[in-house]
Amino acid sequence: MPGFTTSIVHSDRRGGIEHGSLQKPIHATVAYGYEDVQDLADVFQGRSAAYSYGRQVNPTITALETKINGMERGVATVCFGTGMAAIGTLLFALLRKGDHFVSSSFLFGNTNSLFQTFGLHGVDVTFVDATSARAVAEAIRPETRLVFVETIANPRTQVADLEGIGTLCRERGLAYVVDNTMTSPYLFQPVEVGASLIVNSLTKYIGGHGNALGGAVTETGRFDWTTYPNIQDTYKKGDPAKWAITQVRKKGLRDFGPTLGPEAAHHLGIGAETLALRQERQCTNARALVDFLNGHDKVARVYYPGLPDHPEHARAMALFRHPGALFSFELADGIDAFAFMNRLDVVIKSSNLGDNRTLAIPVAETIYYEMGPERRASMGIADSLIRISTGIEDIEDLLADFGQALAAE
Ligand SMILES: *Cc1c(COP(=O)(O)O)cnc(C)c1O
Repeated sequence: MPGFTTSIVHSDRRGGIEHGSLQKPIHATVAYGYEDVQDLADVFQGRSAAYSYGRQVNPTITALETKINGMERGVATVCFGTGMAAIGTLLFALLRKGDHFVSSSFLFGNTNSLFQTFGLHGVDVTFVDATSARAVAEAIRPETRLVFVETIANPRTQVADLEGIGTLCRERGLAYVVDNTMTSPYLFQPVEVGASLIVNSLTKYIGGHGNALGGAVTETGRFDWTTYPNIQDTYKKGDPAKWAITQVRKKGLRDFGPTLGPEAAHHLGIGAETLALRQERQCTNARALVDFLNGHDKVARVYYPGLPDHPEHARAMALFRHPGALFSFELADGIDAFAFMNRLDVVIKSSNLGDNRTLAIPVAETIYYEMGPERRASMGIADSLIRISTGIEDIEDLLADFGQALAAE
């Protein structure tokens, strides 16, 4: 088996591209024509896997799905227009009114908002501290269908008990959905802890350049969908390990239309080629910044799973290739966070993460503003918390930038 990066950079050409092109071309088409109408009928009736209509399939998207699927060692992958579209469509396709699921309470803010919305539509969710598998176990009910967790939570960097929850889900027959965005398949492959379905926002580390949105759902083949009540009879064909992903593509992508465009898929595929290189550099840079800030007298606290005093430090070191490129910190009392951030020159004030550029954001005033002070407090988000997504810049420039911005106080 070729290595992680070799597999990605040679993936397109192994698919056999016209003229020996090394990049999968951007197929800017909505529809596909057939000489023989029987061929078209075969596509619609599932006898042929050829292309029908662009809301569900496009060759450029297929090439990206092949790459993501290989990175996650899945049995099938479906791409979406955004990471949120991937999560929303996945749950829409697999849950019904009256169902319940358990979710980590340390969640990407928009996912939290989406799960509240599911509640309005009759699908109930219980939020628990997923750093403990016991907390997940206590929330399970007869109508519980699945468990949803992230790997490293943003912005406070809690690490879910990924292995313990995997064991629990297997014992209790629950589907296990892991959002791998913060680690990416380079740092961690959730199939190793028994995940049934993996979500990635391609917008972040996999695309990496902040130039395209995208999302993906990968089926690992580890769950026996014959025991799952919500698979429609039409999709109970062939290998039961693929029933869920088939329903996600057929029901979710077709009914909702949260389709990824071919131009974005092309950008994301190019980005994916350098995922390992970028993330190595980002993680090394993050570690150097954390070490600088952690000892600084104008910094009160740094949250990073690579620090020995982080509550899930041992777990992070055991599971992940590196403990990530994102960290957050609180300034010492009396230091004006906005004035500090405005003095940063190389570091950009921005809300994205996983970009090649280092980005900083004040959490309580922006991404967690709508939640209000009580929910923020319950999630351990201090008013002064600043989140840093480390980029690939030269570390001397990043250290100098933080140094001058702190020295001016
Ligand atoms: C950004 C993010 C998402 C959503 O992805 P978009 O592509 O922005 O829709 C989902 N989960 C996590 C953990 C994220 O960081």
